[in-house]
Amino acid sequence: MPRPRPPYPSVKGLFGKPTVINNVETLANIPKIIVRGGAWFSSIGTPSSRGTKVFALTGKVNISGLIEVPMGTTIREIIYDIGGGISDGKKAKAVQTGGPSGGIIPEKYFDTPIDYESLTALGSMMGSGGMIVMDEDDSMIEIAKFYIQFSVDESCGKCAPCRIGNYQMLKILERLLRRRGRDNDITDLMDIAFAMRKGSLCGLGQTSPNPVISTLKYFEEEYRSNIRPSRV
Ligand code: SF4
Repeated sequence: MPRPRPPYPSVKGLFGKPTVINNVETLANIPKIIVRGGAWFSSIGTPSSRGTKVFALTGKVNISGLIEVPMGTTIREIIYDIGGGISDGKKAKAVQTGGPSGGIIPEKYFDTPIDYESLTALGSMMGSGGMIVMDEDDSMIEIAKFYIQFSVDESCGKCAPCRIGNYQMLKILERLLRRRGRDNDITDLMDIAFAMRKGSLCGLGQTSPNPVISTLKYFEEEYRSNIRPSRV
């Protein structure tokens, strides 16, 4: 059952004892480090993010699939050198990294070397290693709605900020997509998002507003153009 933290599992986890929780990707690195040594592993990547990272590259790229790159590879190198560029000769618009709770990064930041710190600074995250490429035709509100719908479905419902917050954000996004947005929709989205970040019990609710926050940060104009002018 979800519970308020701290204490985190590394202090008090299974049977009340300190517990290590890592995903398969992390554990898969351990044999290589034991066999080839820490210095070898540390020689790959950036000073703050060592080693490699697996991404599921997909979306509007010519070549999609699972890739493994050294930390520090830029988003542009991944999309153009590995992914073969944008499909149908369209222009790139943004990339979404980190899975459903990640953020959207606009094309102007594609030269950013990928490591944990720079993705966080851009309002996204490494997360589960998803990398979805979007082209000029993609609506950022549609993308945000897609991820919020996922979080509405996945929320376990135990705490109100996540259970109600995701649902309310979904309703606002749906209204905006019908071009029936209201004057206060943008401030309401931000208020709900920050309340969820602060008040949700677990990582799902704390991070699920990220697609909304990041698309608002970089593509606010798109939101504004879907607000119906108030009638006097
Ligand atoms: S944040 Fe969401 S998923 Fe996590 S405990 Fe609260 S309702 Fe459940």
